[in-house]
Amino acid sequence: LNTQAQAKTYTIATDTTFAPFEFQAKGGTYKGIDIDILKAIAKKEHINYKLKAISFGAAVQQLSANQVDGVIAGMNITPERKQTFDFSNAYYTSGVVMAVAKGSKIKNFSQLKGKTVALKTGTAGATYAKSIQSKYGFKIKYFNDSNNMYNDVKVGNSAACFEDYPVMSYGIKNGIALKIVSKQYEAGDYGFAVKKGKNAVLLKKFNKGLKAIKADGQYKKIVDKYLHSSE
Ligand code: GLN
Repeated sequence: LNTQAQAKTYTIATDTTFAPFEFQAKGGTYKGIDIDILKAIAKKEHINYKLKAISFGAAVQQLSANQVDGVIAGMNITPERKQTFDFSNAYYTSGVVMAVAKGSKIKNFSQLKGKTVALKTGTAGATYAKSIQSKYGFKIKYFNDSNNMYNDVKVGNSAACFEDYPVMSYGIKNGIALKIVSKQYEAGDYGFAVKKGKNAVLLKKFNKGLKAIKADGQYKKIVDKYLHSSE
């Protein structure tokens, strides 16, 4: 028995606001799909951890600088990120959409010409928007978290934002005054990440636990709780 490995407390970074994957509940504790699956997996695999909620960009940066042991934050598994990180098996699939203010007339990328687009630093949405920026001629303004990005669009400073579909649609259902006006682009899978070549034990446990909570119905229960209940 390796008691040293058992005693280790991992620091797992997550995003500050990315409902329904992670968000602060009343009283300040974090909940959401990522938080709950991590908790369920940790229980199965006896992983000790503490959560560190920071901006997504900071989470990714701190992981690459070895300041945290893992990131669970609705993080897309991409070929580019795989050069720096090792990912778990996929646990959710999502794509990027464009959203505008509820009353906006903007319906397509061409209408963004000369306008400002709000993006969240370091995200797949930001990467996608940057890739079409010169074609459609818009300006970019960066935010550290989703709520401030939405707000800039809501108040009319920015004409649009790019966000993961399940997050944007959950937010709109829960009262954010935006609307989705595009199909999903760059569909990809979410995975739990560790620094490349590091924390192999943690990653292995995560995969084992993920398989177990998929098999025993807990995974489905967690996803249903946040995405398919009327609560
Ligand atoms: N899924 C997106 C990405 O991986 C956004 C993640 C996030 O904002 N927490 O970049």
